[in-house]
Amino acid sequence: MDKLLLDTARRAIAYLDGLSTRAVKPTSEALTNLSRFDEPLPEHPTDPLAVLELLDSYGSPTTVASAGGRHFGFVVGGSLPAALSANWMAGAWDQNAGLAVLSPLAATLETIALRWLLDVLRLPADTSGAFVTGATMASFTALAAARHHLLAEAGWDVEADGLFGAPPITVIVGEEVHPSLLKALGMLGLGRQRVVRIPVDNQGRMRSTAFPQIKGPTIVCLQAGNVNTGAFDPAHEIIPSLRETKAWVHVDGAFGLWAAASPAYAHLLEGYSQADSWATDGHKWLNVPYDSGLAFVRDEASQRSALSISAPYLLQGGLREPAQFTPEGSRRARGVEIWAALRSLGRAGLADLIERTCHYAQYMASRLQEAGLLILNQVVLNQVLVSFGTDAATTNRIIEEIQQDGICWVGPTLWQGQPAMRLSISSWATTEEDIEHSLEAILRRSRT
Ligand SMILES: *Cc1c(COP(=O)(O)O)cnc(C)c1O
Repeated sequence: MDKLLLDTARRAIAYLDGLSTRAVKPTSEALTNLSRFDEPLPEHPTDPLAVLELLDSYGSPTTVASAGGRHFGFVVGGSLPAALSANWMAGAWDQNAGLAVLSPLAATLETIALRWLLDVLRLPADTSGAFVTGATMASFTALAAARHHLLAEAGWDVEADGLFGAPPITVIVGEEVHPSLLKALGMLGLGRQRVVRIPVDNQGRMRSTAFPQIKGPTIVCLQAGNVNTGAFDPAHEIIPSLRETKAWVHVDGAFGLWAAASPAYAHLLEGYSQADSWATDGHKWLNVPYDSGLAFVRDEASQRSALSISAPYLLQGGLREPAQFTPEGSRRARGVEIWAALRSLGRAGLADLIERTCHYAQYMASRLQEAGLLILNQVVLNQVLVSFGTDAATTNRIIEEIQQDGICWVGPTLWQGQPAMRLSISSWATTEEDIEHSLEAILRRSRT
């Protein structure tokens, strides 16, 4: 075991060291080696050292270098050093974090991390939470609580009796809703398409004046951080206008919720603490390893009613029982990494991570603009939409060339019908040098 783990550490260090000089996108030569894994199931055991060797030799070069500082696609943060080391430690511990009796440590660290999270995210201190796989499942978790609450108020026990014959729930979303939220609605029987869509402005923000009259059980889904523009729905206008309606307000803040951790950006979340539930990702802007999402629910009782199970062998002790709050039963101790990330960054370190990455986004936008490119969004956060004109084929060709050069990774998007390149700066690992180097690479291709 010692030899194996030391060899693992040595290889992992070499891998991370190599990130600054290798192509962000795996080369096509490297990718051909993926076929090396395609063999019949071995009949007999193999030495774990040899298994590791295979993984490293053919696996490491085919990874996308998203752990490095120049991956600006989607919204991808690299693991913080403290989070990665906690992940290794937790791997060695091999704790099942579903039940407190299986891991008092994981249950305790989750409880503490939850308290810290509510603090840095400026959410009410008595809010309940769940450590899940990602924002999709965080929204699923929170919306399950919403579904329970609204139907219980209407005299219907949805967990016992299901949705057939239940009073209908109206679900309101913005025209720019993230597809993962629609997926969560679909999984809950609330329907991906049976939603009321509110028109948005040119940044993707719901128009608060476009809300219909609300009657009966209703869920309103707001977005904190549009995945293209970074824009926030105006919660400070919408939530107060709903006060009389008893609507449940859910927030998809997969990355945008983290803006609350920075004194300079917290104003973007004005009004959001008045919501009933929130979903965010640890693996985006908190820079912990995948899979790590967080659901926060104001009404703990509804969350428990929607998600808890009971069985004679599930002993209830004094500790918070993690599995009473999540869709999952057995799971890994992802709270350990969140605890470690917050413990190592502290309040100031987290604020700095948010502010530094936002600053880089603004800087890149202004440099690209100076070079004559059109920026399609107001850069309020860490997202930048760059236009190479209205021709989608040209846009895609330039993006492809930038990806092939391997200096940085940027992806294509369509913003309100216009093709664009999307930059998302979300990693602690990004340095000023990475930004300059990437700007050069982008400008070189956008001029040809
Ligand atoms: C990334 C993202 C999601 C989905 O998150 P997963 O972690 O992939 O489940 C949902 N909403 C928004 C706004 C996002 O950016």
